[in-house]
Amino acid sequence: MQLPGLDRRAFLGTAAAAGAGLVTVAAAGPAAADRPGTAGTAASGATAATGGAPSATDTVYRWFGTAGWRIDHGARTVLFDPYLTRFTTGLYDGTFSERTALTVNTRLVDAHVGRPELVLVSHSHWDHINDVPHIARTTGATVVGTETTYHLLRAWGVPAAQLVVVRGGEVLDFGGGLVVEAVASRHSRNARHQYFAPGTVHAAPARPPATVGDLVEGDTLAFQVAFAGGPSAFLMGASDFAERELAGLRPDVAMVAVPSSTATHRYVPRLLAALGRPRTVVPVHWDRFETELVNPVQPDADLGPFLAQVRQAAPGTRVVVPDYLTPRTFR
Ligand SMILES: [Zn+2]
Repeated sequence: MQLPGLDRRAFLGTAAAAGAGLVTVAAAGPAAADRPGTAGTAASGATAATGGAPSATDTVYRWFGTAGWRIDHGARTVLFDPYLTRFTTGLYDGTFSERTALTVNTRLVDAHVGRPELVLVSHSHWDHINDVPHIARTTGATVVGTETTYHLLRAWGVPAAQLVVVRGGEVLDFGGGLVVEAVASRHSRNARHQYFAPGTVHAAPARPPATVGDLVEGDTLAFQVAFAGGPSAFLMGASDFAERELAGLRPDVAMVAVPSSTATHRYVPRLLAALGRPRTVVPVHWDRFETELVNPVQPDADLGPFLAQVRQAAPGTRVVVPDYLTPRTFR
């Protein structure tokens, strides 16, 4: 398989320039960024963000790092791209190997996922799908994803009865006010307009996927998730999109993947305009995801240019820079 390059941004399509640290996000007012809490917020149980402790009717969001989220509303839990294991592939030291064996840290995963009824999967690269078979098998959750995701999960032994295939455009009603819209989307691109492991799977492989290279993209989805009475959240797993697929979407909060390159023309302004300039933007997929899931977040990109573009494109939008596992509401 031809790798377009060895820096992480080169193939996953998210940031380069590691170690820059979070830039200062200046300014008060609606465009100001909420900075992550100081150390220990994950353990404190405090709700960061917007409006104090959650009530029983709040929708509560916890960032799992990478693109992943846990969303709770009352007793109901939805996961998006839950990747907690964060094993080392050599991505950050120039020794990336697509032959890296897939492993699951079951103790860690079990500690954080709760009892999800739904797992939404944007695409089938390992940093999005690796932990999903374990979650599906142990919780019985329904998994919503592409045809590729379906076949890979079947090969891992997940029953077909738990799998829902979407292409984008579906608006799925899960009862009790939970509505999930699937949105056809696109994968991130490096500066050469390429990305790691494109391709789709149209039948279950004879053997379960065992290495990072076994997991091709399988096209990319985004999702809009809303519980009745709560904010609608647009969830991205990669930093590109199909503008015309977003027509009419007006999420209250958008979890936006931070791009690594300028391969996508005017990514931030086009995206925010297409989404109607959401009230809140939360940058995701900007962290080093081969380190432990512990605050403070280790950025693998300078968020400064991204945040500046958001301020310019949507001056009334508040930016919330998340840290790991801290419960947040986006009222
Ligand atoms: Zn990917």
